[in-house]
Amino acid sequence: MRTRSMRRSGALAATALSALLVLAACGDDDGGDAAEEPTAEAEDFPEGSTMARLAEAGSITVGTKFDQPLFGLVGPDGTPVGFDVEIAKIIASELGISEDNIEWVETVSANREPFIQDGQVDIVVATYTINDERKQLVDFAGPYFIAGQTIMVLESNNDINGPDDLAGRRVCSVEGSTPAENIRTNYPEAELFPTGAYSDCLEPLRNGQVDAVTTDNVILSGFVDQNPGEFKLVGDPFTEEPYGIGLAHGDTEFRNWINDVLEESFEDGRWAEAWEETAGAVLETPEPPEVDRY
Ligand code: GLU
Repeated sequence: MRTRSMRRSGALAATALSALLVLAACGDDDGGDAAEEPTAEAEDFPEGSTMARLAEAGSITVGTKFDQPLFGLVGPDGTPVGFDVEIAKIIASELGISEDNIEWVETVSANREPFIQDGQVDIVVATYTINDERKQLVDFAGPYFIAGQTIMVLESNNDINGPDDLAGRRVCSVEGSTPAENIRTNYPEAELFPTGAYSDCLEPLRNGQVDAVTTDNVILSGFVDQNPGEFKLVGDPFTEEPYGIGLAHGDTEFRNWINDVLEESFEDGRWAEAWEETAGAVLETPEPPEVDRY
C-alpha cells in the first residue's frame, strides 16, 4: 500500500513533468488525500447548518478515547491516533478543516452523551455503540464499523472461555458502557467491577483483583497487542456493537451529511486506508457496514 507521503511526492513529480503524467496521477488518486487538503468553505453548505458553522469557524471539537490502542490512543506528541481519530479527520476535512484545527477532547464511556448535550464537543467518535437508549439523548451517523463484546483474561487462564463462565467471577468493565450493562442485565451472577476507562482494568487483571475484562473485541485486541504475552481473548463475540458518530439530538441535516461523507469514504478507499493505517496493524480489514439512516 502506498503511504500518504509517497502519494504526495508522486503528485509533485507529476506536476513538474508532463500533462500526461499529471493525468496519470489524477487517475490514480484514490481520494485518500482529502484529509490533507481541505477545500470546503462555509458557502458550500446550507445557511445556518452545523456544517456551515464549523466550516466558518475553521475548527471542530471531537470527543474520542485517549487510552484505547488501535482506535483512540494519545501518542507521544499529545494527539490521539487510531481508527476513530482517522474517521474524525475525514469528516473534518470535508468541512474544510485540517487536522491541525481539530480540538481533541478525551471522552470516556460515561460522559459521551453529556458532552454532546452540553456542547463541549461537536461530535464523538469513540467506539460508541448506536442503541435506542442513547438515541433518546443524542443522534448517530453511521455505523462505520461493527464490533462485538468479548472477554479478555490472563494468558495463563484456562477456566474462562465465554460469558457463561463469568458466574461467580469478578469481571472488569467500564461504567456507562454497553458491555457493563449487558453483564448487569444478562449475566447477573458475574460480579461486575466497574471502572472509568478500560485501561483501568489492566492492573486489576494482572494482580488478580479481577478474573476477566469485558468490552468490544477490537478494544481488547488492542490491549492484547500492546502487552505481548500477558493477555488473551476467549470465545466468540456475543453482542453486536455498531459504532456511530454521536452528534446533537435532532440535528438531522448534520447527521445526513456525515452519513454521506461516510458512504463516500467507504467507496473511494479512504475508510479502508484509515483502517489499514491504524487497527489494520493487528486486525484484518473488514467490509464497510451499511449506513443506517434511521
Ligand atoms: N461500544 C461500547 C459502548 O459504546 C463499548 C466501548 C466503549 O465503552 O467505548 O459502550
